[in-house]
Parts: sequence; C-alpha cells; structure tokens
Amino acid sequence: MKISPSFRAFGLMGVVAVLQMLLALAAPIDIAAAEPSKHVLIIGIDGCMPDAILASKAPNLKKLAEDGAVTWDGFAGGVQGTPSEQNTASLASWNSILRGVWANKHKANRMKKGRPQPADSKNYPSLFARIKEVQPQAQCASICNWIWINNQPMVPEADYKINGPAGDKSVTELLTKYLQEKDPTAVFIHLDEVDHSGHGQGFAPRLPSYQEAVEKADQHVGEALAAVKSRKNYVNEQWLVICVTDHGGLNKGHGGQSPEERKTFLIVSGPGVKKGVVTPGPGIVAVTPTALKYLGVPIKPEWKLDGEPFGL
Ligand SMILES: [Zn+2]
Repeated sequence: MKISPSFRAFGLMGVVAVLQMLLALAAPIDIAAAEPSKHVLIIGIDGCMPDAILASKAPNLKKLAEDGAVTWDGFAGGVQGTPSEQNTASLASWNSILRGVWANKHKANRMKKGRPQPADSKNYPSLFARIKEVQPQAQCASICNWIWINNQPMVPEADYKINGPAGDKSVTELLTKYLQEKDPTAVFIHLDEVDHSGHGQGFAPRLPSYQEAVEKADQHVGEALAAVKSRKNYVNEQWLVICVTDHGGLNKGHGGQSPEERKTFLIVSGPGVKKGVVTPGPGIVAVTPTALKYLGVPIKPEWKLDGEPFGL
C-alpha cells in the first residue's frame, strides 16, 4: 500500500502521542520498581558449633559468610561475671535471639518440669512486635522444628506460626510453600537436627556424625535460599539473610559456660552489608537489632536492647 505524505505525518504523530501516553502510564510503575522492598530471613541452627561449619562441607553457609559479615566466635550465655550471664540452653538463648535481650530481662531462663518458664513479653517483646510498631501491616512468620519457640510462644506476634511435623526437612518445605503464597517482611526458621546429633553422638567439630548433621543443615539453608530466590517478585525485593546458632555443646550436652558451649557464629548477608570477618564477635542478642536496623525500624533506648546491629 502506498501512503500519502500527509497520512504518514499524521501516523508518525499518532505513534508519538501513543508512546507518550504509554510512558506516562509506565512512569509510576518504574518509580515503584526502583525502590525494592526489604525483607529479612533469619535461619536458626540449633546447637551448631562454628568450628564444625568451618570443618565441614557447608557450601551454602560458607558462601553467605564470604558475601557478608561473619563472626565465628560470637557468644551465647550472656556476659560472664555480670547479671546477664545465663545458661547455654535453647529456651534462654532463642528468647535472647528473638527479643534482643539476655535472660535477666526476658525471664525465660529454663525449662521446669518439661515446660518453659514464660518470658516477659510486655517489657521485652519479640522483634516481630517491634517491626509491627512501625509497619503494622508487616507479615511475620515463625517456622520451627523445636516446638517451644512457637508454643511458649517466643514470637506471639507472628502471623504464621507452624512447627515442622517431620523435622528440619518439613521446616524448609513449609517455608517454600509459605514464600510462594505470602509476602512476609520477616521470617524466622529453626532447624534442630544438628543439636539432636550432638545429644545423640556428641558435640565436636571433627566428629563425623556431627559434621554430617551440619552438612545436612547446610543443605536446608540452600533450600531456604532457593525458596527466597524463586519468589515471583524477587527482582523487586532485597532480602537480608541472618544465620545464627543458640549455643554450642560439650560431650553430649550444653547449658554450661565452657567455651565449647558458649561460642556461636553469626552470618549477616545481603544488600548493604559490610563484608568481612569480625573477631571476637558479638553475642546472640545482636540478631534482633540487626534485623530491625535493616528494616528501617528505629531502635529506641527504652527498649533496653542488649545488642548492636551487626554488619550494617
Ligand atoms: Zn540441645
């Protein structure tokens, strides 16, 4: 078909007009996409000695550490010789991790007759409560193997709380499903089988059974990271990944103040993290302030948090 010059000019103008309209429509979407949303995934590995990670094939944890800020000699058990000194068992420690204070404040010090002492959630609520003070619409989740984290509960403000019915494997399966369906701001997952191995065969960095358990936990870390990366809106999201343990172990137990029981690791990996190895590292109470700072939640002095943000 032959097009007359006047029609061609009109056609060109028309195309330009349509393009301008499309650009005007597209502009707000582009601006929204330029500011990615921030999210935090905290991976808790119960009873995982830092030196065992270093001695094992744990490619996922090692890669996170390489790309982020890490300490291989942080600590559980409070500050020795001060009122914050506490046992190196899971109840006191996970409460310290998730509330950002030691047990002399949160009060959930030990299990009594198989039941947890209640924590002071009024004065020392969980990091999820702190997030929701600033972002009331924020969705938070806690997916755990050890039941007392959700059943005590340590994070009553979680919108989704579930215990993996079939161990660590089901924790990452539930996480994967949850991340496909919901848009959480903060998620905590808890893996328990490294601790089980320690109680069964012994806690020791060079023990094959213990290393095997660490390597299995590392695979679950890989599954959790894959679940984050396969989110349909992942390109518009910025995830901070925090990996931590609640204590180490000695022989087949823990709870005391030995270096083997006290020494913990902490990995913080994601956008804006100051890469590097920090030694000696902070206590486990650094997790809550780290997550809060990353999410833009201003930390108030009256919260009396015991830790500082790590790696940010
Ligand atoms: Zn244990």
